[in-house]
Amino acid sequence: MPYDLSPSPDLRRTRVSSVAVAETPYVLSLDEGTTSARAALYNDRGERIAMHSVPFDCFYPHPGWVEQDALAIWRAQLEAARTVLEQAGVPADAVAACGITNQRETTVVWDRATGIPVSPAIVWQCRRTAEFCGELKRSDKAAMIEERTGLIIDAYFSGSKIRWILENVPGARDKARNGDLLFGNIDTWLIWNLTGGSAHVTDPTNASRTMLMDLESGTWDPELLRIFDIPRAMLPAIVPSSGQVGVIRPALLGAEIPISGIAGDQQAALAGQACFRAGLSKNTYGTGCFALTHAGGRRPRSANRLLGTRAAAVGREGQFAVEGSVFIAGAAIQWLRDSLGLISTAAESEAIAASVTDTGGVYLVPAFVGLGAPHWDMEARAIICGLTRASGKPQIVRAALESIAFQSRELIDAMEADSGEPIRELRVDGGAAVNNFLMQFQADILGKPVVRPMDVETTALGAAYLAGIAEGIWSGVEEVESFWRVERRFEPKMSDSERASRMDGWRAAVARSRG
Ligand code: ADP
Repeated sequence: MPYDLSPSPDLRRTRVSSVAVAETPYVLSLDEGTTSARAALYNDRGERIAMHSVPFDCFYPHPGWVEQDALAIWRAQLEAARTVLEQAGVPADAVAACGITNQRETTVVWDRATGIPVSPAIVWQCRRTAEFCGELKRSDKAAMIEERTGLIIDAYFSGSKIRWILENVPGARDKARNGDLLFGNIDTWLIWNLTGGSAHVTDPTNASRTMLMDLESGTWDPELLRIFDIPRAMLPAIVPSSGQVGVIRPALLGAEIPISGIAGDQQAALAGQACFRAGLSKNTYGTGCFALTHAGGRRPRSANRLLGTRAAAVGREGQFAVEGSVFIAGAAIQWLRDSLGLISTAAESEAIAASVTDTGGVYLVPAFVGLGAPHWDMEARAIICGLTRASGKPQIVRAALESIAFQSRELIDAMEADSGEPIRELRVDGGAAVNNFLMQFQADILGKPVVRPMDVETTALGAAYLAGIAEGIWSGVEEVESFWRVERRFEPKMSDSERASRMDGWRAAVARSRG
């Protein structure tokens, strides 16, 4: 049986004392990330009125391995949800919908009867299946797998992680064949627990990251299941991203709340940026960068090594996106701070970079772990080049920030080359998007406006939109598009010739970092 985590006495008190704020329907968003589980509460105008975060641990038992405790994630998520309701003074019965968004690809396999995971959760970053994926990449099945899933074969996706658990946990494969074990990404795991084990579901955005789903049809693919040796019986049903899948057991939060929205974190951010139509793009500037462009109802095929993925659909099925990621973005700023000691806070980088008019020809290519899209070169290594006696701290700090923008420009170029359509503007969010120097340079180097919204917690917001629309709190995407407000718009100011020469310099630096 799933865990019985009944409500705290405090929570019951909150319910009784808070009737005054219960007038309008609220939407709860559960945002389960890689380092913390967060909960956010929105009113019926799409405004966030409370947010609470509960951290949990990550374990590194061997080099390259990354694990988490799925039960700890569940407890952290429940605590975040209870606390946010308490903080806001909103009783659970005033919450009309709950949306779920989650770190993608992270894999949990648990016992259907006891609810106990059979192993630690294998986190998306974990490389333990890299060797198997390498073999798969060299096999005659590689082209078929990549064509069918839209993905590039890599340990990142869930399929090889599930296979690893079935191979390495004694008895797991037999139990899985008998239907005694269940698989889920974190969305599925949380929903199964929230509904007391009655809903074993996922949505197309999460399923498209398993390497087991046919991207076009949105169904589990029997041939892929054979290749990864995964029994169909353990997989969740794929349900729409916006639509009711079950209710949160009243014992958990104090009332039954419909669970009506599901999306993986990057696709939720795309929705939270109100990018519901083909050609609309967002870029999230965190540790790495994740750029997604909505591709509408047509399945994208990338000639530039971007990933094809599902976007969260509202009302109509089969919405797609192209995705590109940069491994090291904000992490380059962390490196300046923690390894070089050039800055004491990430925020300081803005004023230091702006204290000079350019880098004086210095480029920093932060290929610490290779280069992601569109290069996919795992052998590339970081370099700083173009140094002269005039180069110092400001030039290097500025070059690090500029590298984030150059790498993002390469993603946007690849997206435009794939679709043949120009991207008009870039919507931005994530921790490093607060850096005004970086955003202006991004606009300059793209030659396109960069737009930062009022609410940069776009992941939680996107899941709330999906759930609120499903429950009729909002009439559809047009209404939530009207909630999206610009905080600041950065217009490109650089001349075309300067932009071209800066890009030439960047490309030459990237070439030096490779091979
Ligand atoms: P993640 O979700 O990947 O953990 P966040 O969205 O919280 O990341 O962003 C944190 C990253 O942003 C860190 O790598 C940090 O170095 C960078 N960062 C934070 N503030 C700034 C800033 N003002 N300028 C540049 N980078 C920043």
